[in-house]
Amino acid sequence: MTHSRIGVMGGSFDPIHHGHLVAASEVAHRFSLDRVLFSPTGQAWHKQSANAASPELRYLMTVVATAGDPRFDVTRVDIDRPGPTYTVDTLRDLQAGFGRAHPQDTADWFFITGADALAEVVAWRDPDGILERAHLIGVTRPGHVLRDPGLAAGSATLVEVPALAISSTDVRARVARGEPIGYLVPDGVAHLIAKHRLYAAP
Ligand code: NAP
Repeated sequence: MTHSRIGVMGGSFDPIHHGHLVAASEVAHRFSLDRVLFSPTGQAWHKQSANAASPELRYLMTVVATAGDPRFDVTRVDIDRPGPTYTVDTLRDLQAGFGRAHPQDTADWFFITGADALAEVVAWRDPDGILERAHLIGVTRPGHVLRDPGLAAGSATLVEVPALAISSTDVRARVARGEPIGYLVPDGVAHLIAKHRLYAAP
C-alpha cells in the first residue's frame, strides 16, 4: 500500500500561462505533492466571453504546456462531463478513478485554484462536500488584496506566487491588440494560439 499527496489544479486555462505553471510547481514543492493534475473546466457555468477558446483547445494547450514536467498531468474529467463544472464533481470523479486504479492505495487531496475564485467557495455547489474531499489552496500574486473565503480555520491556505502577475485576461487582450505573448506562455501554447487564430479581435 502506498500513500500519495495529489494536487488538482482547477481553472479555465484560457489560455494556460507561465503563472499557472509556476504556481503549480510552487505549491507542489511547499506541500510535498507527488503530482499535480491540471483540470481544465468544461462548459463555463457563470460566464462565456465572446472570444473564449473551446474546451478541447484549452485542454490541448494545457497538455502542451505541462508535457515537460513529470509531476504534471492533465485530466479530462471536467471537459468530458456534460453540463457546468462543479468542483465537488471534479474531486468525486478523480477520487473514484483513483480508487478503481489503485484499490490498495490512499491519498491526501489538495484543490488549487486562483484565490479570487476560491473566495467564492462558500457559494459553490456543496462546499461541505468539497472540504471533506480536499484541502483548498488559493494562489495569488503578492500585494493582491485577499477576500476572506469565510472557511473554518485550517481548511484553506493562501500562497503568494510572484509569477501570477501574468493573467489569462491580459494574454487574450495582448493577442487581440497584436502584441507579443512570448515568455508569458510556453512556446507551444503561443503556436496553438497563432495556428487556431484564438483571441483575435473580431
Ligand atoms: P476565474 O473566475 O476565471 O478566475 C478568477 C481568478 O483566478 C483569475 O484571476 C484567474 O486568473 C485566477 N485563476 C483561476 N484558476 C487559476 C489557477 N488554477 N491558478 C492560478 N490562478 C487561477 O476562475 P475559473 O477558471 O472559472 O475557475 C477556477 C476553478 O474554480 C475551476 O476549477 C472551476 O471549476 C472552479 N469553480 C467551481 C465552482 C463551483 O463548483 N460552483 C464555481 C466557480 C469556479 P487566470 O485567468 O490568469 O487563470
